[in-house]
Amino acid sequence: MAVDPNRSFMRSLCLGVIDEDMLLPFPRIGGETAETLRAVIDSIDDLLGPRAEDFRAWDAAGELPREFVDELRAFGLFGLVVPEEHGGLGFGSLAYSRTLQQIARHDASVAVTVGAHNSIGMRGLLLFGTEEQRRRYYPKLASGEMIAAFCLTEPEAGSDAASVKTTAVDEGDHFRLNGSKLWITNVEIADFFTVFAKTGPKDSRGKLSAFIVTRDMPGVSVAPHEDKMGLRASYTNAVFFDDVKVPKENLLGPLHGGFKVAMKILNSGRSGLGGGAVGAMKRLIELASHQARERRQFGRPIGEFGLVKQKIGQMVVDCYAAEAVVTLVAGWVDAGSEDYAVEAAIGKVFASEALWRTADEALQVAGGNGYMRDYPYERFLRDSRINRIFEGTNEILRLFIALNAMNDVGAQLQELAASLQDVFVHPIKGFGVLSEYARKHVSLATGAGRSRFTQLHPRLDRAASQFEGHVRVLAQVVDRLLRKHGRNIVEKQLATRRLADIMIDLFVLAAVLARVDAQIRSRGEAASHRDLQILDVFAGGARRRIAQNLADVDDNEDEPLKDLADYAMDRGGYGWDVFG
Ligand SMILES: Cc1cc2nc3c(=O)[nH]c(=O)nc-3n(C[C@H](O)[C@H](O)[C@H](O)COP(=O)(O)OP(=O)(O)OC[C@H]3O[C@@H](n4cnc5c(N)ncnc54)[C@H](O)[C@@H]3O)c2cc1C
Repeated sequence: MAVDPNRSFMRSLCLGVIDEDMLLPFPRIGGETAETLRAVIDSIDDLLGPRAEDFRAWDAAGELPREFVDELRAFGLFGLVVPEEHGGLGFGSLAYSRTLQQIARHDASVAVTVGAHNSIGMRGLLLFGTEEQRRRYYPKLASGEMIAAFCLTEPEAGSDAASVKTTAVDEGDHFRLNGSKLWITNVEIADFFTVFAKTGPKDSRGKLSAFIVTRDMPGVSVAPHEDKMGLRASYTNAVFFDDVKVPKENLLGPLHGGFKVAMKILNSGRSGLGGGAVGAMKRLIELASHQARERRQFGRPIGEFGLVKQKIGQMVVDCYAAEAVVTLVAGWVDAGSEDYAVEAAIGKVFASEALWRTADEALQVAGGNGYMRDYPYERFLRDSRINRIFEGTNEILRLFIALNAMNDVGAQLQELAASLQDVFVHPIKGFGVLSEYARKHVSLATGAGRSRFTQLHPRLDRAASQFEGHVRVLAQVVDRLLRKHGRNIVEKQLATRRLADIMIDLFVLAAVLARVDAQIRSRGEAASHRDLQILDVFAGGARRRIAQNLADVDDNEDEPLKDLADYAMDRGGYGWDVFG
């Protein structure tokens, strides 16, 4: 795998280029890290395995006992990503994501408590901290003496994170912090908060800065924790900052650069959420398989019925694909990539939705038992729902995925359109511009140039050429949308969503191809039989979804659908009844 820090696989793909070097070989955990990781995973099973009944009771009670949080501290789970020289395990993204996978198999509330600390709470320090800040806080964060929380959301600033109202006013040697944050994971048990506040003028937007705030600072207070649908044992609270004096040296990252700091933290931390989703899916597949073997109806185990097999088979495909994406992106982060935001967002959207499908179908396989609190399915369903909402809702991330890609293509088209004017001003010089335009446009529309796989195992030729065909569709869709809507595309969310969905299918397919390629090369074709079946199922589904999305670009009911939504919103509900 050759990672150029500033190359993005998906952005290249939108320009018709398959950046194969970024995909192959598929990342794997080896050497010393693998040994450490195996030991950590085994001891996580020893620690959490016997607590299944406790987790159920703590979910009902709605909180993790403090003594159990102490056990997590003693175990070292708060030091997963802290560098070894500061007392942590120094895990990279891949090893970290695999660890969260193991925790999430046992309990989602524990996974989110550990995840909010490592993935987002203290990640700002990891990415932007000064030497002094790191020296000061790393050891306490590694031991769990300080648990970390990420404080961005406010009552009026959710998806629109740039609109935060909490202010930090420069008063010489300190900033005066005033405001409140909502639904902050861990804040009740945390001592280290990464807080985002407005540092620009009163009427400015987006001029935020990040600060390290500690619980002992006068003026910090925390509300009682929320009573939630899922992740019930994890702590989620509002936190208030009332004239808190934050020393100047606690500024994290550049002044007014806080929005970028927040986005970088969220991007970088996404391997944690993805790993957690994969862990929960693996456990659900075990439960559903057991249920399908044991439960008999019509004189047979229900697992013999095609409709039950379909559900379990799909769970396997979804889990393998989610694991492939999460692993690939984490591998890039570890290899020093800086431009993986689109792919990390795809991983988050795909893994959270794959988990939701899996939890829903596993509950269905369990029938009425699935609905009962004595069984674990309803808890998995409740716990998994939040993944589509937090760390960027899947709607916002879909817009981000598609608009980012179109931005690049749009910039190229604009550049070409601008230089085309030369054709008229300087006819001879302009000829070169014209042929350049023609070449680039053809490459966009047909995917010529570096638009082929050349290094994949020959057994994957058919899937590879299918992928290459999809890349041409992607280029056509981007091109068509930009020509049709121009800048107005930002307001065309339903069209944008189709593009995002094509991009999601393509990236997941690329990750699955890379994973199967590695499998065939290390184990041989015969032993990769199941992997090839997974590839077939995923590629077939992707082909049909992509064709549908392409057809829907010009043939859709977007306008009447939006009109109906306006109608419902205007009247305040549904407008029909069966009375005459
Ligand atoms: C259990 C839990 C833990 C959390 N932990 C943390 C934490 O540790 N730190 C933290 O800072 N925050 C945390 N959050 C907050 C979480 O990140 C936000 O809930 C999330 O960002 C969405 O914001 P919102 O709830 O205000 O929804 P809104 O932004 O109000 O969105 C509501 C709906 O509108 C859609 N929508 C909004 N804008 C657009 C648009 N432009 N186009 C299309 N659709 C749009 C959204 O996708 C969503 O479906 C947590 C929340 C929960 C429930």
